[in-house]
Amino acid sequence: PYDYLILAPGAVDEYFGHEEWRRFAPGMKEVEEATFIRSRLLRSFEIAELEADENERAAHLTFIIVGAGPTGVELAGAIKELAVDVIPRDFRVADTRRARVVLIEAGTRVLPAFHAESSARALGQLRTLGVEVRLGEPVTQVLADGVEVRGERLRSYNVIWTAGVRAAPLTATLGVPLGPGGRVRVLPDCSIADHREVFAIGDAAYLVDAASGRPVPGVSQGALQMGRYVARLIEAELNGAPSARVAAFHYHDKGSMATVGKSRAVVEIGRARFGGLLAWLAWMALHITVLIGFRNRLAVLFSWLYSYVFFRRGSRLITRVAPPEPAAPAPTERAS
Ligand SMILES: Cc1cc2nc3c(=O)[nH]c(=O)nc-3n(C[C@H](O)[C@H](O)[C@H](O)COP(=O)(O)OP(=O)(O)OC[C@H]3O[C@@H](n4cnc5c(N)ncnc54)[C@H](O)[C@@H]3O)c2cc1C
Repeated sequence: PYDYLILAPGAVDEYFGHEEWRRFAPGMKEVEEATFIRSRLLRSFEIAELEADENERAAHLTFIIVGAGPTGVELAGAIKELAVDVIPRDFRVADTRRARVVLIEAGTRVLPAFHAESSARALGQLRTLGVEVRLGEPVTQVLADGVEVRGERLRSYNVIWTAGVRAAPLTATLGVPLGPGGRVRVLPDCSIADHREVFAIGDAAYLVDAASGRPVPGVSQGALQMGRYVARLIEAELNGAPSARVAAFHYHDKGSMATVGKSRAVVEIGRARFGGLLAWLAWMALHITVLIGFRNRLAVLFSWLYSYVFFRRGSRLITRVAPPEPAAPAPTERAS
């Protein structure tokens, strides 16, 4: 039994009906997946160093990222930079500077949730860095050794999935109306229809903000703001103020940012849009200020400064050789 229930189970990677692709193209939702991706990537450089067959070596030195949202764009930039600037001195045979990083996007631009101007800016930054960006090309097959796109086979032992998310499987078990991506359709006060005491928030909730007419985006600010709103609402009701629900939840858009490797980024704050070094510094400053604790902030600041000046990435650990076990399949969904 409960007086109030807040559901915030987040999101999982969406494979658009091809769950079998997850094995070869893990996403980045779980820490275990991220450490596996890092290990597989670093191991590929090691294998390429020993591989005699040129085609095999090329496949180990090709990194394919499916989906050009902020995660895909940031990952593509970081991998290219790692291959070109950070690790070449670790290898004698394999020329990691020639590693291909291919970013494949089904839509017509990178960073589709950003303004078109920022998308164009990020595209330019990626191409300057040497990332191959393929737009308007949906991936139609993912295999153990690469992908198929427009009937063409691209060989790679490192395919990473950043093409989309859907609400956590829990939402499909609730028997309540669901919106796009299996997200729980909530009322303006974040509660579920006919259940005033149950709230869904964050990536698992679907709410069209009455003020902007747009859905609250699946980003950390959306989750944080909904969390604070519901906490205040419950507190007010417990203090005998049932009218707290009259004021609907409104999302305050504080802006969007994405980095494209070292010294490059795009930033949107209100009507202001800019890129380059200034945007990258803004990204760094923001991410340091949101860390918990002064000691952490200082440690990260010094670590980043060290990496920036010496082009060194501290830990290149190979810790995980097998992909994490996939989560249990979602129960049959009851759509709205
Ligand atoms: C790689 C990556 C980079 C991102 N970068 C940014 C960024 O730069 N800026 C930004 O704003 N947003 C970013 N996001 C999005 C941001 O992380 C999410 O919007 C935010 O975490 C959503 O918060 P949440 O509380 O709804 O869900 P989550 O933070 O996902 O938390 C949900 C938790 O619930 C747990 N859970 C799920 N089901 C159950 C269950 N049945 N029982 C118990 N627990 C359960 C999950 O394991 C998880 O720990 C990024 C996301 C990813 C994956």
